[in-house]
Amino acid sequence: MEMFIDPHIHVTSRTTDDYEAMRKAGIVAIIEPAFWLGQPRTEAASFKDYFSSLVGWERFRAKQFGIVHYCTIGLNSKEANNEPLAEQVMELLPLYAGKQGVVAIGEIGYDDQTAAEDKFYRLQLDLAKEMDLPVMIHTPHRDKKKGTTKSMDVSEEHGLAPNMVIVDHNNEETVKEVLDRGYWAAFTIYPHTKMGSERMVEIVKQYGPERIIVDSAADWGISDPLAVPKTAALMRKMGIPEEHIRMTCYQNALTAYSQSGQMDELDWLNAEPIDQTKKMSGNSVLRGGQVPRVEGPSDRVEN
Ligand SMILES: [Zn+2]
Repeated sequence: MEMFIDPHIHVTSRTTDDYEAMRKAGIVAIIEPAFWLGQPRTEAASFKDYFSSLVGWERFRAKQFGIVHYCTIGLNSKEANNEPLAEQVMELLPLYAGKQGVVAIGEIGYDDQTAAEDKFYRLQLDLAKEMDLPVMIHTPHRDKKKGTTKSMDVSEEHGLAPNMVIVDHNNEETVKEVLDRGYWAAFTIYPHTKMGSERMVEIVKQYGPERIIVDSAADWGISDPLAVPKTAALMRKMGIPEEHIRMTCYQNALTAYSQSGQMDELDWLNAEPIDQTKKMSGNSVLRGGQVPRVEGPSDRVEN
């Protein structure tokens, strides 16, 4: 069975059913970018606990379902607009960005393209450069073309190499410039709207697989945690070569984010078997009376 990476998914908002379905569909590793939670945070401590959860509990929870969890740490563009709070969050970032399993600074960039967003985007680019970490850029949904171009201009102004920067939420309008300038171009496959799997197939047909990355960005909104394997299946049906599927749905994300030194294929190829009897700080994914899943060495046949 083939292996997939979903390099952008907010699993904090998803259920254990999703984790099970993802693993069954071949997803072996995921990256969870720090982002907005829908409800704006009012205290720096809320960010602190959220970041702790990304490097702690969620990493543990994914492992209980056979998936290796990585994350990115950053202040999202939406909440950058609360400047006094954003200043405090900036102080937290270096404490978390160096932790195990953190593969980038992100997702950062522009939302409404305000002065405050610009200020904190620039500060975080400097942090990424200082820590020698890749950057995951969230491009705005409104005025996307202009915002995407600006994201790259500013990144270059701060001395980041394009190969260290993954520009996400691309579409037909932005992809050419992003690739021409040497960046990784990620695409978020949203069900029913925006980038659907069909459009993704056309993009891979037109541009080939180099530096193109497919993700789900599944979160608390209408989204699909199986978007990557589903898009791969559609690519196959539409005659996209196997190697192009492997690159866009697995290898490119691995190559881009392993530049952090925190992500290695052996992390899942040599993963310990699932053992749901394990606990983290006394807490388990099991509820009263449930039978824990414990894999023996011979159970690892799925991939
Ligand atoms: Zn996201």
